[in-house]
Order: sequence, then C-alpha cells, then structure tokens
Amino acid sequence: MTFEDFKFDEKLLDGLSSMGYTKPTPIQGQAIPMILENHDVIACAQTGTGKTAAYILPILNKILHADHRHLNTLVIAPTRELAQQIDQQIEGFAYFLGVSSIPVYGGGDGATWDQQRKALEQGADIIIATPGRLIALLAAGTIKFDHLEHLVLDEADRMLDMGFYDDIVKIINYLPKKRQTLLFSATMPPKIRTLATKILQDPKEISI
Ligand code: AMP
Repeated sequence: MTFEDFKFDEKLLDGLSSMGYTKPTPIQGQAIPMILENHDVIACAQTGTGKTAAYILPILNKILHADHRHLNTLVIAPTRELAQQIDQQIEGFAYFLGVSSIPVYGGGDGATWDQQRKALEQGADIIIATPGRLIALLAAGTIKFDHLEHLVLDEADRMLDMGFYDDIVKIINYLPKKRQTLLFSATMPPKIRTLATKILQDPKEISI
C-alpha cells in the first residue's frame, strides 16, 4: 500500500515524500479510508504507531478541498506536551499546504493566554487543545465552533484517567451536532465505551 492509494491531493503527497513518509503504517492503512468516507471512527492504537498522521492526513486533504475555509477541526489532547507534538506534526505538513493550526493549553503565564487569544482572533483551520484551557476560552467567548466539521479525541483513556470526562461532555455541547468524530485511545475500558456511545454516531472500529 502507498499514500497514492488514498487519492490524496498532489500537494499533500509532495509534503509526505518531503517529510520522508514513504508508506502508510497499519493504523493509517485502516483509518484513512474510513475517515475520507466521513465515518465516525473509534481506534485502539498506542503512541508510536503513526496514529496522529492517521487522523491528520485525511483531515488535511479534506481542508484542501473545502470551498470555504474556517475553523474546521478541534483536536482535544490530555496534556500540553501532546498538544504541542500534534501541532508540530501538523505544522510540518502545513508548510506545504497553507493550512494553519493553533495549540491551546494552560499552565503558561498571562502572555500565553493573550497570545492564544490573539492567534484565535486571526483564525486557523485546526485547534489542538487541552480540556481545561479550552473551556476557559469557550466561556470567554473567544472560540466559535459554528462551522466545525471534525472532532478528534486523542489519548481518550488518559483524558478520562485525568478526570476530564465532564469537561469533554461540556465542550461537546458547544460543537455542531452534525460533525465527524474520531476517538483514539490506547485502551478501551468501559468508560471509553460509555463516552463513545454518547458522542459518536454509528462508528467504525479499528484495533491494531
Ligand atoms: P505517533 O504514533 O502519531 O506518535 O507517530 C510516531 C512517529 O512516527 C511520529 O514522529 C511521526 O512523524 C512518524 N510517522 C507517522 N506515520 C509515518 C509514516 N507513514 N512514515 C514514516 N513516519 C511516520
């Protein structure tokens, strides 16, 4: 299997080869076609399997083909470190594609809060956020998700372990009901199943 099999945009294929991605990993081979077909997906995958690119690549391809550009995708991640890593992977591709992302997380000083608000006012295609800071920005009216098309929960089991269940449900109340939801988790305890039933519609399941 190659990335050409997904019929990706030429610009995305060029970006992939420039970044040294020659072949899809197993999770990418399974998830990318499902995501391109607009299914909700629940994927059991560990870090290091290429799970980030498994959801980012099809989303980037869809953003490239969108008629109107607006805040398109929200990725929720448990920690500042993971949010930064996801943002760096997106930025790597964004260089070739002209797609923009903003990481949003707490724990910084006041300048970070102001920087994040300023960046959000300028707009982006993708926001990668930790739950606590995202709720604060939503309460302040700084982010509007009116046109959001994709929600990704990355490392969902870790988020629940950290006590973010109620925050995630609260955030989802701010999102359009008609959207594609992708849930990635290293493990599938019952609490993840409960969350999935609540927020995904007729999901396809992947386990690698
Ligand atoms: P992840 O599991 O998302 O944390 O990804 C692990 C690492 O693999 C990251 O550094 C990615 O840049 C890299 N990676 C993901 N997919 C591919 C691929 N198809 N070919 C080469 N490297 C990849």
